Amino acid sequence: SKILYKEDVAVIRFSDQTSKVCVNKQSLQLHELADVLGDIWLYRSSKSVVLISGKPGCFLAGADSNMLQSCTTSEEVTSLCEEAQKLFRRIEQSRVPIVAAIHGSCLSRGLELATACHYRIATKSKETVLGTPEVMLGLLPGAGGTQRLPKMVGLLGAFDMLLSGKNITADEAKKMGLVDQLVDPLGPGLKSPEERTMEYLEEVAVGVANDLANKKIPLTREKKLWDAVMGLGPVRKMMYSTITKRVQKQTKNLYPAPFQIIECVKTGIEQGSDAGYLAEAQSFGKLVMTSESKALIGLHNGCLLCKKNRFGPPEKEVKKLAILGAGLMGAGIAQVSVDKGFTTILKDTTEDAISKGYEKVYKSFDTKVKKKAMISFERDAIMSNLSIQTDYSGFESADMVIEAVFEDLNVKHKVLKEVEAVTPPHCIFATNTSALPIRDIAAASKRPEKVIGIHYFSPVDKMQLVEIITTDKTSKDTLAAAVSVALKQGKIVVTDGPGFYTMRCMGSLFMESLRLLQEGVTATKSDFLATSFGFNVGPFAVTDEVGVDIGLHISEMLCKAFGSRYEGGSLEIVKTMVEKGLKGCKSGKGFFLYGKTKSVNPEVEEILKNHQVTAPSAISSEYDMQYRLLSRCINESLMCLQEGIIASPLEGDIGAVFGYGFPPMHGGPFRFVDTFGADRLVSLMKRFEDVYGNQFTPCQLLLDHAKDPSKKFYESSPSLLQY
Ligand code: NAD
Repeated sequence: SKILYKEDVAVIRFSDQTSKVCVNKQSLQLHELADVLGDIWLYRSSKSVVLISGKPGCFLAGADSNMLQSCTTSEEVTSLCEEAQKLFRRIEQSRVPIVAAIHGSCLSRGLELATACHYRIATKSKETVLGTPEVMLGLLPGAGGTQRLPKMVGLLGAFDMLLSGKNITADEAKKMGLVDQLVDPLGPGLKSPEERTMEYLEEVAVGVANDLANKKIPLTREKKLWDAVMGLGPVRKMMYSTITKRVQKQTKNLYPAPFQIIECVKTGIEQGSDAGYLAEAQSFGKLVMTSESKALIGLHNGCLLCKKNRFGPPEKEVKKLAILGAGLMGAGIAQVSVDKGFTTILKDTTEDAISKGYEKVYKSFDTKVKKKAMISFERDAIMSNLSIQTDYSGFESADMVIEAVFEDLNVKHKVLKEVEAVTPPHCIFATNTSALPIRDIAAASKRPEKVIGIHYFSPVDKMQLVEIITTDKTSKDTLAAAVSVALKQGKIVVTDGPGFYTMRCMGSLFMESLRLLQEGVTATKSDFLATSFGFNVGPFAVTDEVGVDIGLHISEMLCKAFGSRYEGGSLEIVKTMVEKGLKGCKSGKGFFLYGKTKSVNPEVEEILKNHQVTAPSAISSEYDMQYRLLSRCINESLMCLQEGIIASPLEGDIGAVFGYGFPPMHGGPFRFVDTFGADRLVSLMKRFEDVYGNQFTPCQLLLDHAKDPSKKFYESSPSLLQY
């Protein structure tokens, strides 16, 4: 930290930040801060203090998750927390008023420091966000966050922040009482807007610090309505119980952190600060050691890695995109493309289809305008990147064509040939097929090295993952270009060799659920087996959402590719459902009926009468049924790594969690095997194999890990290097 005296005010700048987003050198910074403040307190060298970042972009970074993971015991972590708590409590009790001047992100430890100060000023910049995201890493704020926030923003406001981990804008923070004053960011002048804003913020903060020291601004906070509410014991009790019930419902008791957060807040309020701080430091220590937190931190770090292009920049930057098909997927892809500044053509065969597509894209931005998240000028500027048409004009300057037409190989071949006739030689042809092998599509191409699969998930703007699928002919440069486009569209990218990783794994789970259905286990029960393990939705609900016809098509392709090993349930059931028009949510009924409440569809029960099988009595416990579903999908993941379809356990885990909703608290199939034990999984699968056959044959990689318990997928920190 650098210190600078402006008359009676000491301005402390956190300067130990080497990049725009702060690099975490947490303990070092805190020691420094303690030393600097210690001198001020001892020598009374200033009447007030301003804390500000030396660089725009971030007030102070949160605790370093790698540093936490290097601790081997809870006690070690607890004592780190206590150190930070002690410093922040000294700041809070400081006789010299301390002002936090915030521009950029003020999260985790940064927010805890800011809330320990006597006054907070934040810029109204879009980049300024405040929050306590620890819960998303399976942790809690361990430097007083659970103790100070309830006093500052009330019990409900604090629970909302602590349990959701959401980012709060400067405006919202001001309304909540989290920030005392806002300043407008400045535009460009002789210096950059960022530098000018920081200087201005500092100037305002110094003024406020002086006023606090001279008592022109009172140090006491005005009483809020919630102070009175907080004073009522029975009301508080009711709040704890309501919130606990809500968290139980949302987390299905699978995540420990939210419950610990409630406990720490409660302890602080009901038993006093000392008990509260102690509970907080101890809970933090315990949480860092949980498998849930390790899994969530692993995913967080993994996402950061998957947001980098490990194939390097492409030879030619992709600037102009053309999208074929303005349906559900095409319009979604157009939306995420224009939003990120790609010049984009959206083409379909009819005027009607393209105007519907255009409307969808427009509406997505217009909704943001209505919600005041965007101004109409921005919406119009973004929309000006989009042109809609029914012919191929403009394709002569396209760098990449993304195809999202009907899922039919003949149609795909037809458009591929048409596109190659009108586009320049460097232009890449990317297909968004759900299940057709990319090499089959590329078979019609004159330049197969330029053909690649970019698999978006629906809804495109919400789903973070994109799978990039190469064939043995796809060039490295095409791969680098496809990854760069998906990253620019804001996606997390995993790359697959021939085959579809996520579809394979999800499909195997579906095939086994079908088998359960034939054995008399209801769709509701099967879905419960998946959701009680932590999936958000079960396999049948997902299929209804995606479309039963699409599910059938994908399953048929997969069964064709993998034969009896992949089978399980009978696809005849699904075929009959499609023939009868039971196509899922889009047709109002599928495996379930969607009336006022969701219920099992009796028509499916009727179809099932022709497909019943007797359940082997040896495997009928709920646990067995659950692990029939899970073991197949986990084994399929490992097999994909073994076959080189995916490159690393990390990409496999990210793909599974963000692609088909593998429960995040387990970290993904690979981390799950590490935690659960490969040997345990193998012995379960062998038992199932004896009864059902080769669907349950453990793959070699799983067997290898079972044989040698010291073998782990995550031995050291996660890496994207080839496995
Ligand atoms: P959709 O039916 O909503 O849209 C397809 C569009 O393509 C239609 O508007 C149609 O008019 C247009 N089209 C057909 N032939 C064309 C041609 N020759 N030139 C230009 N446009 C043409 O389908 P969708 O759900 O958007 O799926 C598109 C592709 O994406 C399919 O291959 C599908 O398998 C794949 N996909 C779908 C999902 C999903 O969840 N729906 C997810 C991933 C991938």
